[in-house]
Amino acid sequence: ATVLGIESSCDETAAALVTDGRVILAQRIASQDEAHRPYGGVVPEIAARAHAERLTPLIEATLADAGMTLADVDAIAATAGPGLIGGVMVGLVTAKALAMASDKPLIAINHLEGHALSPRLADESLGFPYLLLLVSGGHCQLLLVEGVGRYRRLGTTIDDALGEAFDKTAKLLGLGYPGGPAVERLAREGNAKRVPLPRPLVGSAEPHFSFAGLKSAVMRAKVSGHHDDADIAAAFQQAAIDCLIDRSRRALHGAGPVSALVVAGGVAANQAIRSALEALAAEHGLPFVAPPLGLCTDNAAMIAWAGIERLGQSDPLDTPARPRWPLDPTAEAVRGAGV
Ligand code: ATP
Ligand code: MG
Ligand code: FE
Repeated sequence: ATVLGIESSCDETAAALVTDGRVILAQRIASQDEAHRPYGGVVPEIAARAHAERLTPLIEATLADAGMTLADVDAIAATAGPGLIGGVMVGLVTAKALAMASDKPLIAINHLEGHALSPRLADESLGFPYLLLLVSGGHCQLLLVEGVGRYRRLGTTIDDALGEAFDKTAKLLGLGYPGGPAVERLAREGNAKRVPLPRPLVGSAEPHFSFAGLKSAVMRAKVSGHHDDADIAAAFQQAAIDCLIDRSRRALHGAGPVSALVVAGGVAANQAIRSALEALAAEHGLPFVAPPLGLCTDNAAMIAWAGIERLGQSDPLDTPARPRWPLDPTAEAVRGAGV
């Protein structure tokens, strides 16, 4: 079976064709980095317009790349949230029109489920349940992934997402947008020990994350004028890693048996974070699974794959776009946290 996936929840316009044999037949990603760079972050209205202009030709090109037409696909999977509502609507409405025109089922996908299941696209041996650290531009969560559609949130950030903290650190250091990869590059040239920074909630009995205090401390270090930018970048990244490892270790101790320690989301593209998590997994005798870099940041292959995982499901053509859509609806609201 083959599913067409569509992603438009942030600033990547993307389409992909993925088979149940885990083959990505074709995929295209149009990044809007250039359009948003002057503003130092994603401008929702610019994003929605760009998705509207680019999505249809992008889907046509993706089908052409694979030598396919809509008649050859078994379902159309599109991100239905959470994300910037204008962009989500563009992708979802396009998917609905294609589903109607081709008489194929529509599968509405939670973007976070796309991230959460992406490691299974890359690694066929990854079975449930696994402990997932989901670190992205808008989220930082530890989830017990028990099955498709079965996500138990063990912890979340009580303030900022980690990707957001990377992007703000980049902005502060004049590294531009998007910031994660630039901070990672600069951090390689710095010495983390030269800049003392806090590790919020490390050692805490509660299961959550916090990055707002770290972000403020980075700002104070920068304006003090006493530190080299590369040292600040390295210290920020090391503090973030120490937080991730401490919180993930705590979750591993309480989660019961799991098949693997898994990381996903845009921040999972960070090599230093991957290495630290790999060491943590080894410490617990667990396999460590991380998707290839291109499957970490936003893409449509992960949405198509979530569609494969949900094949047989069909969502109505009046399915709404959801700006907020928690993976674990039973999880309690946490102070200051998004979904
Ligand atoms: P969400 O998935 O929560 O809705 P999003 O879709 O905007 O948010 P992703 O595309 O999953 O986010 O991830 C983008 C984030 O990942 C950005 O904050 C970016 O800075 C960060 N990121 C990308 N590469 C790296 C890297 N190498 N190191 C650290 N952070 C990175
Ligand atoms: Mg992006
Ligand atoms: Fe994302």
